[in-house]
Amino acid sequence: YGGIIAILVTGGAGYIGSHTCVELLNAGYEVVVVDNLVNSSKESLKRVEEITGKSLRFYEVDLLNRKALTNVFKENNIDAVIHFAGLKAVGESVYKPLEYYHNNITGTLILCEVMREFGVEKIVFSSSATVYGDPKVVPITEDAPLGVITNPYGRTKGMLEQILTDLHTANEKFSVMLLRYFNPIGAHESGRIGENPKGIPNNLLPYITQVAVGKLVCLGVFGNDYDTKDGTCVRDYIHVVDLAKGHVKALEKMMRDPGKVDIYNLGTGIGYSVLDVINAFEKVNDLKINYVFKDRRAGDVPACYADPSLALKELGWKAEKNIEDMCRDSFRWQKANPNGFEEENSDIVVRKDGSVIKK
Ligand code: NAD
Ligand code: UDP
Repeated sequence: YGGIIAILVTGGAGYIGSHTCVELLNAGYEVVVVDNLVNSSKESLKRVEEITGKSLRFYEVDLLNRKALTNVFKENNIDAVIHFAGLKAVGESVYKPLEYYHNNITGTLILCEVMREFGVEKIVFSSSATVYGDPKVVPITEDAPLGVITNPYGRTKGMLEQILTDLHTANEKFSVMLLRYFNPIGAHESGRIGENPKGIPNNLLPYITQVAVGKLVCLGVFGNDYDTKDGTCVRDYIHVVDLAKGHVKALEKMMRDPGKVDIYNLGTGIGYSVLDVINAFEKVNDLKINYVFKDRRAGDVPACYADPSLALKELGWKAEKNIEDMCRDSFRWQKANPNGFEEENSDIVVRKDGSVIKK
């Protein structure tokens, strides 16, 4: 790796991480992945290599294991870190606050300590629009006040934004990119990598795709009495490949303009209601989604969407894919991989035109 810039991707086997590895490899970076596979499979990384025709280095290491993490820094010439690793289930975090605080916060503290030991001073962090709470004004700009966060998962994001900012205050050379994601959905268009939730999905798109393939019977739409155009909640859904490209742009900005704390919204700027998403999914995939209205879900805000213009201005990035692309790619991934990354999928083939056939 001498002379070549290697990027450490924590949580690189996960949903957003694996798509970002593809874009980093395509852009010519060396990629080193650290993941404990608590919510992922190393098969995703094999497929990243298959998609790109390039190889990466994988370490099955927990961020809480300082010794093993130190070894990763010893064996590789790391220039910057993109830090995805963390637990992310909102509901579970309410029941397991210690696990969430320990994994997400202590894990990041250990990562930053090891970075300091090796003189690595650049970090891109996966934050979330959840730090805005219930926004007073939409679309949301980065200078909007931080809101009330309603669960421990979200609070780890708010706290880690502050912790990383404090590290910059203490060392002005320490560069921090806080990327606030809106709602990532979709999958790589090859149908080879995508979101692979364990158990019954909590998020909208995986739930819809599982209803579409008959794994689940009926989608519950949480609330139809919000003050929105059709009464259902409005979100800014962003294709995961666009999001991944945003990370490469953020990394490049950090390299040419180090020593900053930069904050960017990564969203499309368009708000879609739950019913809009169902309609788009039905239309583009030519099927019907069985759904019923249910009560509101605790903690949901009525409307949340980005003003992404700062990322366009300063990173030269904007989302290119639309809601139809997102719905088509999510479904293609689900159909081709009904059991996620497990082996039983081997009788299914994705053809060049994106359609899926059984061998
Ligand atoms: P994911 O669960 O697919 O990926 C996270 C990865 O981190 C997994 O592969 C998991 O095995 C790994 N991991 C967890 N704890 C670890 C530890 N202690 N040591 C090493 N590896 C560990 O989730 P994702 O959707 O790809 O999310 C990536 C990041 O983006 C997370 O930090 C998440 O909180 C954040 N984020 C996600 C969303 C979303 O909607 N998916 C929205 C906003 C922010
Ligand atoms: N949602 C829904 N039914 C589901 C899952 C989600 O109606 O089974 C709604 C949820 O109320 C929210 C939107 O879909 O308005 C997006 O929810 P998700 O959990 O995917 O993301 P969030 O915005 O909560 O991070």
